[in-house]
Amino acid sequence: MTAIVGLTLDGTEWTPQFVEALDAQKCIGCGRCFRVCARNVFELVDRESLDLNDEEEDLDDDDPFGDDDDDDGFSDDTSMVMTVKNNGDCIGCEACSKICPKGCFTHMTKQAA
Ligand code: SF4
Ligand code: SF4
Repeated sequence: MTAIVGLTLDGTEWTPQFVEALDAQKCIGCGRCFRVCARNVFELVDRESLDLNDEEEDLDDDDPFGDDDDDDGFSDDTSMVMTVKNNGDCIGCEACSKICPKGCFTHMTKQAA
């Protein structure tokens, strides 16, 4: 079996890297991935609604851009956390990983049927 491949406008093959998981322990709830995803894959939820053990990491301890500004108007509200609501709609573009300041995502290829 071979992995699902797509085609660019000029007919070049590329291999989609579908979203596999989002590490909620690293997520700072900034919403960047939600903004860039064109496929409605994500949902921002209250962190307390998930069964997470937050004792190991202080999510407020670093700013992803090295300053204390409210970067680009994104909230960095650590009471919220992003979740994968609907990975079946993912097209594997990896925009979420490229924009995420915390390296939360892992991706996978999918075998063609
Ligand atoms: S890989 Fe692309 S389509 Fe899939 S969740 Fe990330 S941004 Fe959305
Ligand atoms: S971009 Fe990363 S840190 Fe920000 S909400 Fe998405 S997964 Fe969380």
